[in-house]
Amino acid sequence: MSAPVIQLRDLAKTYQTGGVSVAAVRGVTLDIRRGDFVAVMGASGSGKSTLMNTLGCLDQPTRGNYLLNGVGVAGLDRRQLAELRNRQLGFVFQSFNLLARTSALENVELPMLYAMPVISRRERRQRAIAALARVGLAERHDHFPSQLSGGQQQRVAIARALVNRPELVLADEPTGNLDSRTSIEIMGLFQELNASGMTLVMVTHELDVAAYCQRIIVMRDGEILRDTRNENPRSAAAEIRALDQAERRASHN
Ligand code: ADP
Ligand code: MG
Repeated sequence: MSAPVIQLRDLAKTYQTGGVSVAAVRGVTLDIRRGDFVAVMGASGSGKSTLMNTLGCLDQPTRGNYLLNGVGVAGLDRRQLAELRNRQLGFVFQSFNLLARTSALENVELPMLYAMPVISRRERRQRAIAALARVGLAERHDHFPSQLSGGQQQRVAIARALVNRPELVLADEPTGNLDSRTSIEIMGLFQELNASGMTLVMVTHELDVAAYCQRIIVMRDGEILRDTRNENPRSAAAEIRALDQAERRASHN
């Protein structure tokens, strides 16, 4: 079997601010295999974002080891980390983080501008078009974020996260700003991407949302409290079909 995408060994992160030290993550050991779909849950302040920032190579741990795809992250310099982030990781955020005066297509092209080796303008365009089609937004290339719904903006952000064909997608509360139906649609998109082999780790506050994932990790006070397989994940596609049917019945009455 291939090495896990993520191997964490006794990982810890302590912040020092104004003479006070906060142990945000306190000795986490964890493997995540290729093709897994993991929810990270826990109360506010339990260390979820700190853990995600470490996984995303946005922040260095103060102790322990992190192997991404078998490669130790600790030894890399800033430039190597930036390259690794760009090539192997995709990020999705609660607030979408799209550039406002930039079309959907250009937002998706952005991560390819910094890719090494260089990707030609023509290929950037083709790949962005394909990524937008993959998230169901083929008709929205020229729209600015302000002309898109929240769910559509999140789809653009997901297309942007996918466009460099990352090893791993990290999402911090990706449905936090969406209504319940749109949240199910976004979880359906994640389930589709996962079914096609993408490894996903997402933070969520809501058990309802975590129920679509294959594995649920609960953090408390910077440690893993529970790590369980979800034997029977909810199916977003089935739920959307049921919602559509109910709507059709309602409109016939
Ligand atoms: P969660 O995402 O689960 O809400 P965080 O990882 O954001 O938790 O925070 C964990 C702990 O670390 C909290 O006590 C928080 O105040 C602290 N913390 C997070 N980021 C920083 C930082 N940049 N500087 C100092 N303390 C921080
Ligand atoms: Mg957080």
